[in-house]
Amino acid sequence: MQKEIFLNVHEFQAKEILKKYQIPCHDFRIISKIEDIDQAIDSLGVTEAVIKVQVHAGGRGKAGGVKIGKSVSEIKKIASELLGMTVVTKQTGEQGIICHKVMIAELAEISTEYYLGIIVDRSQAKPLLMISPEGGMDIEEVAEKFPDKILKKTFSLDGKIAKDSLLEICNFMKWDDKTAEQGCEFIRNLCKAFVETDASTIEINPLIEDSKGDLWALDAKFIVDDNALFRQKAIAEMYDPSQMSSQEAVAHDMDLAYIALEGNIGCMVNGAGLAMATMDLIKHHGAAPANFLDVGGGATKEKVAKSFGLILSDPNVKAILVNIFGGIMRCDVIAEGIVAACKEMDIKVPLIVRLEGTNVEKGKKLLESSGLKIITADHLTDAAQKVVKEVK
Ligand code: GDP
Ligand code: MN
Repeated sequence: MQKEIFLNVHEFQAKEILKKYQIPCHDFRIISKIEDIDQAIDSLGVTEAVIKVQVHAGGRGKAGGVKIGKSVSEIKKIASELLGMTVVTKQTGEQGIICHKVMIAELAEISTEYYLGIIVDRSQAKPLLMISPEGGMDIEEVAEKFPDKILKKTFSLDGKIAKDSLLEICNFMKWDDKTAEQGCEFIRNLCKAFVETDASTIEINPLIEDSKGDLWALDAKFIVDDNALFRQKAIAEMYDPSQMSSQEAVAHDMDLAYIALEGNIGCMVNGAGLAMATMDLIKHHGAAPANFLDVGGGATKEKVAKSFGLILSDPNVKAILVNIFGGIMRCDVIAEGIVAACKEMDIKVPLIVRLEGTNVEKGKKLLESSGLKIITADHLTDAAQKVVKEVK
């Protein structure tokens, strides 16, 4: 079973990739310690700059993580404030993420902010480019407030966008000849970058036009499909565990998919679909998941034990629900893994197990005859009701 995980990279890394595709970005330096600030400002050769926290979350500006310094001393002061800052945005949750790196960039002079993004349109099985004259906002917000102000164009899997599409985009954006020429080049390069890097999302928000009519990528978000990392070695190395919860980082190293949530039921499942269904049912019965651990298709004893360890490392977990469909992986093998892991680990919270699929009866017998306090469930609703009862 394929896991749906994606690798997020920092803005500065995204811009390094974009620069390789001749996409114009303002020059920048990155510092991780304040002692390096003088050298950064010197080599950039600026007296004013924008200073930006490098964290895996959007909305940094609103969170106070993007600031303009109008003199060298101001740049230094801002950089020292932003380094080590805990950035709290809509996407990070209350705990926020710590900023370990700061970008010092040439200050852009902005006359217009636009939005430009590419995602994968699964229904059409093609990359989909979205562009809007409304920049700076989330695209979801634009879609809600000004649905007519987004133009969407698919392009082919070889990374080439049709001439007609480019023409339509230039008209839609009301670009003059000079800007249109740059815009076409920009978009052609971005489409190529998207396909060649196995990206699942690229977002340039804002794409800006300066008073000379030149276009620049002012911000860049870049997400790559994890399943392609084997052939995207340079991007795979951009993985930054400091931007994930410690559980997510450990899961990543063990090739498990882990998602932290806000509730108190730890969930071990296989497959993203089953994870969704489990979450819906838990919520339907009045509780919420603390996390999801997707053990994928080949859960060994060791993997199950490690998974329990990971789930339990979240102090909010008050009960564990194992919900696994044994197809290729047989239920008795999973049950053996669960029993072995429980004997090793001394799990203090109630454990509810629902197995379905190949050798399910054999699996259940193993659980029931283990002498362990495992609550078995017959079906999904039964499992959800039982686990919710335990945490209430
Ligand atoms: P985000 O808040 O995480 O999306 O960070 P952005 O890099 O998109 O910056 C947020 C906003 O700060 C942009 O939409 C701009 O309005 C502003 N900004 C960022 N860089 C510059 C710059 O170089 N010059 C000026 N004038 N404004 C900037
Ligand atoms: Mn942005």
